[in-house]
Amino acid sequence: MTGERRALLNIGVIGTGSIGVDHIRRVSGSIAGARVAAVFDVDAERVRAVAHEADARALDDAVTLITDDDVDAVLVASPGPLHPEQVLACLDVGKPVLCEKPLGTTVEGCLRVIEAEVSLGRRLVQVGFMRRYDHGYRRVKQVLDSGQVGDVLMVHAVHRNPEAPDGFTSDMSLTDSVVHEMDTMRWLLGEEISAVTVVHGRSSPLSAVGLQDPQLVLLETVSGVLVDVESFVNCQYGYDVGCEVVGSTGTVSLDTPTYAAVTGSGVRGRSVPADWQERFCDAYRAELQEWVDGIAVGDVTGPSAWDGYAATAVAVAAVESQSSLTRAEVKLADKPALYV
Ligand code: NAP
Repeated sequence: MTGERRALLNIGVIGTGSIGVDHIRRVSGSIAGARVAAVFDVDAERVRAVAHEADARALDDAVTLITDDDVDAVLVASPGPLHPEQVLACLDVGKPVLCEKPLGTTVEGCLRVIEAEVSLGRRLVQVGFMRRYDHGYRRVKQVLDSGQVGDVLMVHAVHRNPEAPDGFTSDMSLTDSVVHEMDTMRWLLGEEISAVTVVHGRSSPLSAVGLQDPQLVLLETVSGVLVDVESFVNCQYGYDVGCEVVGSTGTVSLDTPTYAAVTGSGVRGRSVPADWQERFCDAYRAELQEWVDGIAVGDVTGPSAWDGYAATAVAVAAVESQSSLTRAEVKLADKPALYV
């Protein structure tokens, strides 16, 4: 746009818990071309405080926010099981929606979203798989796409959190945590995951009683690439994600950004991010900025409803494997042309 000033995109945010507030602060503080216009959360006290801080209106329920004339686009950051209904309400009024992961906690919920979007005939839904915006992962993908390491054969991945919140269960390691790898691998490798096997061995004495932690998740892609993911939600030392891709002529690894070079106590080393907010803060910012910029030109190009559905299908199969202690196949519906 030359010489024209773009109108601010008015965003309505549903859910003002940990990531909702993070996103609101990001939009208010560092995203060009957008502002938070309205917020809703079932916690009335919290939503009032958040609305005051963001200079936004606190609305009474999700549908009122979605249908509000002064809300141009919606960011859904409520608990996962609520996502399909809230996203469907956005599609009903033709508004772009950035839905935090997961798109839904059931395959059926995700398919309803796909069906509604396909019948509209245009993409309005983006799913919050922010690793696709991380500089390190983008670099790994560039190397893979360039053919520099030959044919991809295997991936070794690590996903460690310092500690799990109270009430965190073994299946949540798969649906909340490893679901990021489930999406990232589909994107990095450019193909679907066809089967998943989950195993666990000795658990950490520091993990809650009954929590299987760490766990090992083996993903198999349609072409036969094997991806092993260590999920450890009580590693104590920090937030650590890793990814090494083994190709036929070389390997490529995710390089965790250096936060500080620390020398002390006889050791010289690199500091580790404290949590996912710190590790992926630039990725969240890029995700939001690209979403806002895309809407300005009528284009939603980030992770799609199909990506959300495929990741949920893998997560559901992983939970099945975890409880049956067998390999679970992932069977996907036919991919609509809208997502090809
Ligand atoms: P959270 O802290 O529990 O926040 C969720 C908020 O939504 C809470 O304030 C909750 O209120 C509220 N809520 C409950 N029912 C609602 C309703 N019907 N309408 C609107 N709001 C409602 O959870 P979170 O960690 O922010 O996670 C939210 C979503 O973001 C989840 O799907 C999660 O998987 C995803 N997430 C993604 C990332 C990422 O890296 N992309 C990171 C973190 C979270 P109450 O507490 O009173 O129920």
